[in-house]
Amino acid sequence: MPTDLVPATAERPAGSGRFAPSPSGDLHLGNLRTALLAWLFARSTGRGFLLRMEDLDRVKAGAAERQLEDLAALGLDWDGPVEWQSRRLPLYEAAIERLTAAGLTYECFCTRKEIQQAVTAPHGPMGAYPGTCRNLTDHEIRQRRDEGRPAALRLRAAVTEFTVTDRLLGEYRGAVDDLVLRRGDGTPAYNLAVVVDDADQGIDQVVRGDDLLPSTPRQAYLATLLGLPLPEYAHVPLVLNTSGQRLAKRDGAVTLRDRAALGESPQHVLCVLADSLGYAGAITPSGLLERFRLENLPQEPWRLDPDGLLQPRKCP
Ligand code: GLU
Repeated sequence: MPTDLVPATAERPAGSGRFAPSPSGDLHLGNLRTALLAWLFARSTGRGFLLRMEDLDRVKAGAAERQLEDLAALGLDWDGPVEWQSRRLPLYEAAIERLTAAGLTYECFCTRKEIQQAVTAPHGPMGAYPGTCRNLTDHEIRQRRDEGRPAALRLRAAVTEFTVTDRLLGEYRGAVDDLVLRRGDGTPAYNLAVVVDDADQGIDQVVRGDDLLPSTPRQAYLATLLGLPLPEYAHVPLVLNTSGQRLAKRDGAVTLRDRAALGESPQHVLCVLADSLGYAGAITPSGLLERFRLENLPQEPWRLDPDGLLQPRKCP
């Protein structure tokens, strides 16, 4: 495990860490624990900490504001104003234009169903886009446009795999396919937006749930094509329910507001989250930060029974 962490007292590196939720509903305990970890990683290495709302799709009215309230209630702080992806569309278009000018994009007219039904490309990774529209002639493209089919824009990837280094998991080699850059409805795709934003915002540390690890080789490859620096990645274990599945809203009382209705304060919830990381008795993020050591992070997912009261050791 790496031990070359910059102490919080050392001069601050230029970069920042971040938390980038999608405002599709309230954050649950798994999201809050990841946010806390992202904050701890950033602050314990002297970095800034930024919040970015990934509000290009799956937006629920009022959810972003509630998420920010909950993060603040937990005691997390962030630097500068919150960024909103929906206000950054020209940046994504500029990146798409650069890729297109370099001959690295193509229009894709496939429906979801067509992609599912197509066999995977012979040398491509499982589930990868089979490349149906990769080599359409100008005539075929015109035909499809004339049929009124909406076109997504895809990356013309020159590799099928890419290796990234994860601070916690080491080297990870994973699939890269002709990923979507702009969807058929004109919305920039998550993989593009995240890469553009992290670089543009000076984010050099990406801490997030390990469910996103499989997307990371695609993102790192895309960043490389755009000539953008790669951040340090750390994918942290998710919170699981009692059946060992990723925690979800339907698992019961899993949000800060659900817990408040059971009489548990945000400090109590923070204390429970800290306990799950191996730090009993911390009730503020800054108290936890003083004791936090990246190398002691549990490698196992945290299993949670949201039906019961959260009863860790030594919490208020
Ligand atoms: N917005 C993504 C999510 O909430 C996270 C993106 C990221 O951290 O890279 O799942």
